[in-house]
Amino acid sequence: MKLLEYQAKALFEKYDIAIQKGVVIDAAGDEKIRAADLRFPVVIKAQVQTGGRGKAGGVKFAETPEEAAKLCGEMLGMDIRGFTAKELLVVEKKDIAKEWYLSIMLDRYSKSPLLIFSPLGGMDIEETARTNPEKIAKVPIDPIRGVQDYTISYAMDKTGADRRYKDGLKEVVEKLYRMFFDYYTMLVEINPLAIDDEGRLIALDGKVEVDDNALPFLPDITAFRDKLQEDPQVIEARNVNFLFIPIEDEGNIAVMSNGSGMLMSCIDLISKKGMKVHAALDLGGGATAERIAEAVRIMLGRPKIDTVFICIFGGITRCDEVARGAVIAMRANEAADKHLILRMEGTNKEEAAKIVAESNLPITVAEGIPNSVEAMYRLKNGKGA
Ligand code: ADP
Ligand code: MG
Repeated sequence: MKLLEYQAKALFEKYDIAIQKGVVIDAAGDEKIRAADLRFPVVIKAQVQTGGRGKAGGVKFAETPEEAAKLCGEMLGMDIRGFTAKELLVVEKKDIAKEWYLSIMLDRYSKSPLLIFSPLGGMDIEETARTNPEKIAKVPIDPIRGVQDYTISYAMDKTGADRRYKDGLKEVVEKLYRMFFDYYTMLVEINPLAIDDEGRLIALDGKVEVDDNALPFLPDITAFRDKLQEDPQVIEARNVNFLFIPIEDEGNIAVMSNGSGMLMSCIDLISKKGMKVHAALDLGGGATAERIAEAVRIMLGRPKIDTVFICIFGGITRCDEVARGAVIAMRANEAADKHLILRMEGTNKEEAAKIVAESNLPITVAEGIPNSVEAMYRLKNGKGA
């Protein structure tokens, strides 16, 4: 789950990382801005779950409360790279001497947290990565030793950063590193980490990505979720205890399975064949016909999906229940051009195949995952299943 900037900054504050004073608004008018008693000029920032807002017109400056209110009116509801700005953060503008980049992410190669630092932070960090890769340091942090003096020295020396700020940087990294662990994050980023005229380090932006699997332990993060723009089908599925995972927007295949391992294998094989998966759904164990029908219905409700692949290794889940559920959902589906591929293994497999055969619906029963993917490929390339 990606947090909004002000949510990320609320966590920064908890860890005593300096931020600018500000107020979140979700309606036009200047009362809330005035009541916040901010020092002008201010910066008005669209709160959307994407970066690059500055370049997309989502960060504006205002000299007076009137100007701020006017800009807020213009920015509320604006589209920033596919996200609607329902809230704005109005913060005091900082005079900046330098903009640094700082992040900690979970690095699967070094199997450890990875510190990424650059003295050339700000809006052009991607450009820096391309043109001045030597100005970006990537330093794994040993999870047992934690952040050490040499971690910071190395990052600063490699990139030619001003060593005068070493203690300050180390302090911020240590705080961020604690937060990284406490909140089960996959990424914490401060860009820019600004240095003001007095040499203080301040987080002017914040990005935090929390591992969804940790949400049950993090009530304060779960509370943030209401403010996020979530995929309606993710919510719909969650309400009935299915895990719906959007994958590639341009894909048109839905994969449903019992277990994330099998989901991943299916997606791999489908991708290898050059096809694209739009979304995946984990059915969990022991699904009844009604539950299967509900899951297929959610998938068929997505206009982009034209093929649903159900792959079941039946232990707790009975194949005949799966087939019955698939038939119910396909029969109820009005768009007749959608196809379903069913691969089932386990209890009552034969009975399941019979149910499908007697239904006369566009459902193909296939043996094993590779054959199913092959059937899908033939179907999509007009060669019949
Ligand atoms: P994004 O990364 O989405 O473009 P940022 O929050 O990083 O958005 O803002 C973009 C740029 O705007 C920053 O690099 C910084 O130069 C400037 N900026 C943002 N917040 C402030 C602030 N409080 N004071 C001064 N400048 C700011
Ligand atoms: Mg930024």
